[in-house]
Amino acid sequence: MADEGKRCGHDGCLCATTGDSEYCSPYCEDAADQDLTEIRCDCGHPGCSA
Ligand SMILES: [Zn+2]
Ligand SMILES: [Zn+2]
Repeated sequence: MADEGKRCGHDGCLCATTGDSEYCSPYCEDAADQDLTEIRCDCGHPGCSA
């Protein structure tokens, strides 16, 4: 399987990860750890703030 295009583990986030991390940013990691169910991701990456 290709490892490209893996998405962030945070529900609602459409960002791609760099491959070795489960989340695109500390923001998403914290959000997932707190089990937040946000519709909108606020990690600040392009494509997530629409
Ligand atoms: Zn995001
Ligand atoms: Zn993310």
